[in-house]
Amino acid sequence: MSFVKQYRCTLCNQTYDSQKPLLTCPDCGEKGILDIEYDYQALKKFVDLNYFKNQDEYSMWRYAPLLPIEIKHIGQMLKIGWTPLYRANRLEKSLGLHELYVKDEGLNPSASLKDRASGVAVLKALELGYHTVSCSSTGNAASSLACHAAHMGLKSVIFVPKRAPIGKLNQLLIYGSNVISVDGDYKDTFQLSKVAIDHYGWYNRNAAINPILVEGKKTVALEIAEQLKFMPTDWVCVSVGDGCTIASVYKGFYDLFQLGLIDKIPQLLGVQSTGCSPFVDADMTASPLKEAEENTIADSISVGIPRNPIKAQQAVLNSKGAWIAVTDEHILKSMKKLGSKEGIFGEPAGVTALAGLEEALKTGIIKPNESVTVIMTGNGLKDPLNAQKAVKAPVILKPKLEDLERYMKEKGDKRHA
Ligand SMILES: *Cc1c(COP(=O)(O)O)cnc(C)c1O
Ligand SMILES: [Zn+2]
Repeated sequence: MSFVKQYRCTLCNQTYDSQKPLLTCPDCGEKGILDIEYDYQALKKFVDLNYFKNQDEYSMWRYAPLLPIEIKHIGQMLKIGWTPLYRANRLEKSLGLHELYVKDEGLNPSASLKDRASGVAVLKALELGYHTVSCSSTGNAASSLACHAAHMGLKSVIFVPKRAPIGKLNQLLIYGSNVISVDGDYKDTFQLSKVAIDHYGWYNRNAAINPILVEGKKTVALEIAEQLKFMPTDWVCVSVGDGCTIASVYKGFYDLFQLGLIDKIPQLLGVQSTGCSPFVDADMTASPLKEAEENTIADSISVGIPRNPIKAQQAVLNSKGAWIAVTDEHILKSMKKLGSKEGIFGEPAGVTALAGLEEALKTGIIKPNESVTVIMTGNGLKDPLNAQKAVKAPVILKPKLEDLERYMKEKGDKRHA
């Protein structure tokens, strides 16, 4: 049973029948990103606290009634979601923060939050009878699509910019995807994929454009709320590239609010790198988004022309949240901090939200007595070269106990100096 009521254009507000497989608004074209609206009155009778009490599907598919998909292939999918939400005891102490949680999205099948969107995309492609799925991506959307396509027997054609990190590229090749590495930046890559998808008639998993992907990603917010007994934290911090993730986090909380399951929507902190910060720049100058440079180590959020600006900006605005940018140096420090304090290893974009939290505490946007969730969006093993920049190389010793003793002493002496 589907509870989807209609599609609504985020630009012109026009509504469309959800039975038509539309990607964008026919009147507004590519900029007319659609939003999927649900029949909350009907949903309320079905999805209540009891529904969750009796739910024994520990994956994102426990939220199937809140998704625009048929459930017939769900049982064959890899396990996506229901990732742990950890209380970050040591980290919260070191930040002087009252209550901090980390949602570890690095534990998904292809090791990032993007699995939530790709899972829905693959189900939809199967539902609609496609044999090939395609997208352009800075890395994680691609590797997750390749992963779930492989598991469900679909072909994937993936366009990546030349700079994609080696871990993500290797994932694509191991998952057996047809990989096109584009000699250009993400904008060029996106453009070529668009033309190719039209030309060959593949299923389009380009995140910003396809509205069902935000629906998949929103399950991260549904989980955070449920894992906190439907009392989510005051703030949720999210790293932002195209803007789909933060928009989807808002949508998840919005759904629960409409269903009367939570009584407030957390404030959202949108975090970017100073090396690529079109949302933060637009917020500071109160002007529309301008194309920005793509000059950050956080490849997953190195997006000069965000494809989902309206939904992302509305998410931060409607949640009474804030935008903030952090330097790449700060991102690297946060990578080390999260790893050494909590045992969680994130890629640069994965820990950007944590750096943003620190910055927001410093500037007073977030207060020490507020509760916070940081979404750690991707695993650090995907990008070993940048991880190397965050740490010092290990000591090299001869295999002799005396040498080890001398080293341990020096190290101890230094530490106590
Ligand atoms: C894609 C991605 C993001 C940002 O999501 P957008 O929808 O592009 O804003 C953040 N972190 C990681 C690890 C990602 O892969
Ligand atoms: Zn429109």
